[in-house]
Amino acid sequence: MDRLDLAFKVAVEARENAYAPYSGFKVGAALSVKGIDKIYPGCNVENASYGGTMCAERTAIFSAVAENGKVPFEFCIVVTDTEYATPPCALCLQVFSEFCPSDFPIYLGTLKGIQKKVLLKELLPIPFNKIP
Ligand code: ZN
Repeated sequence: MDRLDLAFKVAVEARENAYAPYSGFKVGAALSVKGIDKIYPGCNVENASYGGTMCAERTAIFSAVAENGKVPFEFCIVVTDTEYATPPCALCLQVFSEFCPSDFPIYLGTLKGIQKKVLLKELLPIPFNKIP
């Protein structure tokens, strides 16, 4: 199994752990870090106070940073149970932009498989950046 297939499996499994009683929209993510075997899973975790909700993508990013500090990410996969794959929200794209180059690959998938590869710069061409 290659790394992309493994990450897809991690994202699908993480999606099963999503806590989404309010939206009913479960999302799984998997983040591959360069030079590290582990693939970081993420799922959305909702809260009765909606602002406390966290997306699957940022769950994976923050987990990888918590364990390794700032390290180069290789790619991310986002999986939803929808007909068409769902891209990360703007907040997650902004967080990706803090840690990833503009050509960072994001794979969008459904439970049937990966549908599309996009680059961070295609989804967020001009990120907010206070560091010149
Ligand atoms: Zn998000």
